[in-house]
Amino acid sequence: MDKQLGLLIDLQGVDLQIQRLEKREAEIPLQINDLQKENDDQKRIYEAKVQAADGIEKNRRKKERDLESKESVLAKLKDQLLSVKTNREYQALLHEIENGKQDISHLEEEILQMIEDSESAAQCIREISLEMEKSQKRYIEQRREKEQEMALLQEQKHAFESRKEALRKEISGELLKQYDKVRKSRNGLAVVSVRDGSCQGCFMSLMPQLFQEVKQNVQIYFCPHCHRILYYQEEKEPEAVS
Ligand SMILES: [Zn+2]
Repeated sequence: MDKQLGLLIDLQGVDLQIQRLEKREAEIPLQINDLQKENDDQKRIYEAKVQAADGIEKNRRKKERDLESKESVLAKLKDQLLSVKTNREYQALLHEIENGKQDISHLEEEILQMIEDSESAAQCIREISLEMEKSQKRYIEQRREKEQEMALLQEQKHAFESRKEALRKEISGELLKQYDKVRKSRNGLAVVSVRDGSCQGCFMSLMPQLFQEVKQNVQIYFCPHCHRILYYQEEKEPEAVS
């Protein structure tokens, strides 16, 4: 095989690897962001539940204070019963006492309900807190994995970049110019094989004469349709299709 052609095939391989690694390199921070967001969302849910439980407690304490003052008012009213002079006053006082009792019973019901609500809120908070602990661990683990993957692929990229530099030094300037130009306009693919007489970049058929020449791999030819650099690769037996 022509030495320059061999180098170009290698360079294309290396550039494709770098392209693949860079794509992954761009994906990882986004995935870490998603993980972080999920984790933050859970924290927010937890904090909201804690706040709601505090609200119930505060409200309950307020109702308890109301209850105390209603009870003391009621006690005073009952004392007054002993000193009323007229039946009318007596009836009015009894009516007030009845209302006071109803208010108290209503408050007691409300307080009982709040105690129940507080208990179920506390249970819910305990469950979320356990779940949060687990997912926090999972998050740290997954983030560490992603960071390790990132470090590894950057290492691989470095190695490919050194290889790329070395290859480019050996390829003629004119060919590199052509290679870079085609690669830029053809989505990163500038060197392709020819199979069944067709360019594997644009899949157009080559003239039989050109195909025969490309098959020798002793000179550099370009696809007349997409301008990619062509080489011939021994065709393998097609793999069995299951
Ligand atoms: Zn082509």
